[in-house]
Amino acid sequence: MNDSNISPKLIFEEKKAIKLFLWLFYIFFTTYDIFWHFVLPKYTIYGNPKFPDDGLGIWLYILIFSLFPVALYYIRKGNPYIVKYFILLSYVFIDIIDNLMKYYGTTKDFGSGNIVELLFIFFSPVFVNKKYFWSMFLGITGKYVLLGIILQDTNVLPPVVITFILSAIASILLIRFYSYINSLNSVHEELRQKEKLAVIGQMATAIGHEIRNPLSSLKGFTQLQQERYPNTNDFYPIMIQEIDRINSIVNDLMYLGKPKGIKFKKASIEEIINYTLSITQQQIERQGVIVETVLGGVLPPLDCDDKQLKQVFLNLIINAIESMPAGGRIKINIKAIEDLKMYISIQDEGYGIADENILNIVEPFFTTKKDGTGLGLMVTNQIIKDHNGELKIESEIGKGTKVNVILPIAQTNNYN
Ligand code: ADP
Ligand code: MG
Repeated sequence: MNDSNISPKLIFEEKKAIKLFLWLFYIFFTTYDIFWHFVLPKYTIYGNPKFPDDGLGIWLYILIFSLFPVALYYIRKGNPYIVKYFILLSYVFIDIIDNLMKYYGTTKDFGSGNIVELLFIFFSPVFVNKKYFWSMFLGITGKYVLLGIILQDTNVLPPVVITFILSAIASILLIRFYSYINSLNSVHEELRQKEKLAVIGQMATAIGHEIRNPLSSLKGFTQLQQERYPNTNDFYPIMIQEIDRINSIVNDLMYLGKPKGIKFKKASIEEIINYTLSITQQQIERQGVIVETVLGGVLPPLDCDDKQLKQVFLNLIINAIESMPAGGRIKINIKAIEDLKMYISIQDEGYGIADENILNIVEPFFTTKKDGTGLGLMVTNQIIKDHNGELKIESEIGKGTKVNVILPIAQTNNYN
């Protein structure tokens, strides 16, 4: 939480916490000492109420109270985050000096400490800062250990043990706070992502509608021109192909919006795959790719929206082809398991997908290609989900990728 770019809201939170801490620190510190040196002696036989005259004496209080304006200065002008360290380290330092002056060279038993140390321990989770927690723990135990070594006194052990136990409790709180904040953060991030997509989706659908009409008349007129003047222009086929490309990008983008309801009909998976292979045939040949299709027995007809499944396998086969710019083999396996599920796998020998990307590839706009849109697998994944199926991708960098599509053969309801 100690980044240099901290949001004003977090700084405000830290200021609130440190102010509360300062108040409690001084209240605890003074009431404890007033009780110890004035109230207790007055009502017991311990002697006269008076300011302690050993150790730093009155200077202890002067020093501790002079920390206050410095702390305020840091809160107002500088960095509220260092105030807690400043108070902690100053306290530990002053207390060490005070104790050395009290006990060093005497035979008095060590019996010291102030209840503010409890405050340090139990306030450490409030700052939600692991570094501070460890500074507090090492500062306070270190103080007792150091005094024990210098004074050769084992009476420092009880406070060390108590600090250990209480710090363990405080650390449980701290860990809980951390994990709570982390899960809040991830929920928030998820929501943000969803909202972003919803907005993009609405925009895409709206713009897509507007683009599709002019695009189809553009295509119509280009085709008309081509028919009228068949020998004048070599560019017509390219123009039509590019218009088709825009159209397919627009269609993919529109998928970001509300997925349309699906009407399932029986169709042959073999025909769907053959269709997608036929329209990618040119690219397959141009790139020196060999496609091998293996059917595992007789395939039952599949409940599906065949147009959408064509889109799925088109995207997957194009990805496989694009992963092998220097050619290679694509293996397509189709098998049905007991009239329940259809397994289709598409395996390539391409460049593979890096581990850190594998979770991202179905996200919209994620692409590693120069001309990629990053929409293909998003649409594919969405369609498969709409078919109550599963998309599983295994990949090894440099070896290739295997994409598994698992679809239920029969859909229980006709509407999704
Ligand atoms: P695009 O193809 O436009 O980049 P996709 O959603 O189809 O978008 O794919 C997203 C990314 O996933 C690709 O850019 C690529 O990095 C990776 N990818 C998908 N399929 C394969 C594959 N068969 N081999 C290697 N990488 C792949
Ligand atoms: Mg693609």
